[in-house]
Amino acid sequence: MKSHIINRLAKIVGEENVCTDPAEIFCYSRDSTPFQYFADVIVRPAKTTGVSEVMKLANENRIPVYPRGSGTSAAGSPLPVKGGILIDLTRMNQILSFDEENLQVVMEPGVICDDLNEFLKDYGYYFPPDPASSSVATIGGMVANNSAGNRAIKYGKTKDWILWLEAVLPSGEIIHTGSDTLKSVSGYDLTKLLCGSEGTLAVFTKIGMRVQPLPETYKTAMFLFDDLNRAGEAIVKARSSGVVPCAMEFLDKLTISTTADYAGLTLPDCEALLLIETDGIEAAAEKELKIITGIVKKMSPKEWKIAQDEEERNTLWVARKSAYAALARCSITTTMEDLSVPISKIPEALKRIQKIPERVGNQIRVATFGHAGDGNLHPTFLYDERISEQQEAFYKALNIIYDEVALALGGSITGEHGVGIIRKDFVEKEHGSVEMALMKGIKRVFDPSNILNPGKGKPWGSTGEP
Ligand SMILES: Cc1cc2nc3c(=O)[nH]c(=O)nc-3n(C[C@H](O)[C@H](O)[C@H](O)COP(=O)(O)OP(=O)(O)OC[C@H]3O[C@@H](n4cnc5c(N)ncnc54)[C@H](O)[C@@H]3O)c2cc1C
Repeated sequence: MKSHIINRLAKIVGEENVCTDPAEIFCYSRDSTPFQYFADVIVRPAKTTGVSEVMKLANENRIPVYPRGSGTSAAGSPLPVKGGILIDLTRMNQILSFDEENLQVVMEPGVICDDLNEFLKDYGYYFPPDPASSSVATIGGMVANNSAGNRAIKYGKTKDWILWLEAVLPSGEIIHTGSDTLKSVSGYDLTKLLCGSEGTLAVFTKIGMRVQPLPETYKTAMFLFDDLNRAGEAIVKARSSGVVPCAMEFLDKLTISTTADYAGLTLPDCEALLLIETDGIEAAAEKELKIITGIVKKMSPKEWKIAQDEEERNTLWVARKSAYAALARCSITTTMEDLSVPISKIPEALKRIQKIPERVGNQIRVATFGHAGDGNLHPTFLYDERISEQQEAFYKALNIIYDEVALALGGSITGEHGVGIIRKDFVEKEHGSVEMALMKGIKRVFDPSNILNPGKGKPWGSTGEP
C-alpha cells in the first residue's frame, strides 16, 4: 500500500485509527473458516462520512475494500482475499434512538446483537433473530449475512426486521433505502437486496429496525433419542402439528457428548437430542408445548424433560449455543457447514451426513447440530488441516454435502452463513447461469470497478472474478 494512500486514510479517520502493524493485520486475517488472508491496512472509521471518504479514495485508486464486523463469519466472507483496505466497523457501535410508538430502534452497524437485546429488554422489547454467536456478532454483519439462528422458525431472519438502511456505495455516495413505515412498495426493495449481500454491494452505516414485544414466558423441552432417524421423523411430525414453536434445535451424538462436557450437563448416552421451545402468554405457550410434546413422544424418545425454571432453561441453551465452541476444542480444524433442506427431507439428510466420514476413508469426523425446525443443519467437520489426507477428505466431504445432500434433496448450499469463499464452487450449481448473470449485473450496477469485497462467490461463483 503506497504511503500517500496511508496518509490520506490517516487524514480521514485519524492516525490512531489506521493500522499497518503486521501483528494486528494478522489478527484480522481469519474468521471461523480455515482460510487466511492479509489486508494491507486496517481503518476504523467512527462516522458515515469517514466510511464515505474511504470508499471514494479506494474507488479512485481501484483499491479493494473489505468491510468487517466481529469476524465470526462461517463462510470467509469478510476475509481480504486481495489485500487492500479492511474497514473495521466496530467503533460505530452506538444505539442512536428507540421510538416506542413506532417500535423502531436505530443503530450503528457495530452494535453487538446481545447488547441490542439487553438495551431493548428494559423497554419490554427484543430483536428475535438469535444466532448462536449473538454475544459477539454485530448487527451490521448480521444484516450483511442475513443471519438467522434459533428463532428463525417462528420469527424469520435478520432481513425480516430491517426497515431501512443508510449505506455507502463503492463510489462513496450515501444512500438511504426503505423507510420508517412498515409497508412501502414504491420502488424495488433495495433494503432486502442489501440484506444478505455479504458486504459486496454497500457498507451499512446506520440501521433502522422494527422490534417485537418480549414474550411473557418460554416453555422449553428436551428430548433424547437412541435412534437418529426417529429424531428426524419427530422434527417433521412436530412441524406439521399446527403449532409453530419459537425454536426447534437438533444435536447429534458427538455434539451432545462434547457440549454436555463443556456446559457441565450430565446426559445419558444417546444418538440425538431435540430442544423445543414455545413462547407467548403463559397459557398459550404451555398448551403449545403440550401439543408438540404429545407428538414427539409418539416417536418414542428414550428420555424427555421440561425445564422447570429459568436456570434449567439457560443450561439447555448454553449447551446448544456452545456446540461449535465445544467441538472446536476436539480437533485442530473445525469447519461448520450450513445446508438447508425442505423439512420433510431432514431424516434423509441426517442419514446421508452421518455416512460421510466412512465415504471419505474415515479421515475426518462429523458432528451435526442446527436449527432443524427450519431444515437448517450445521454438519461440522473435525480434522487437522496440516495433514494432507485429512484436508483432501474434508474437500471430498464438502462436495458430498453440497451435491449429494443439499442440492440433491432440493435444498440450498447455505441457509444462513452465506457463500463467502467456502461455498463459491457451488453457488452456480444452485442458481444456474441465468440467475447468476442477473446477480452479476446487480453487482456491476452497484460496484462497476469491483472494489467492494472482491474475490468472493457472491456473485462471481467459483472463480471469484468478474
Ligand atoms: C460459534 C458461531 C455460531 C454461529 N451461529 C450462527 C447462527 O446461529 N446463525 C447465523 O446466521 N450465523 C451464525 N454464525 C455466523 C456468524 O456469526 C454470522 O454470520 C454473523 O452475523 C456475522 O457477524 P460479524 O459481525 O461477525 O460479521 P463479519 O464476520 O465480520 O462479517 C460478515 C459479513 O458481513 C460483512 N459486513 C460486516 N459489517 C458490514 C457492514 N457494516 N456493512 C456491510 N457489510 C458488512 C462482511 O464484509 C462479511 O461479508 C455463527 C458463527 C460462529 C463462529
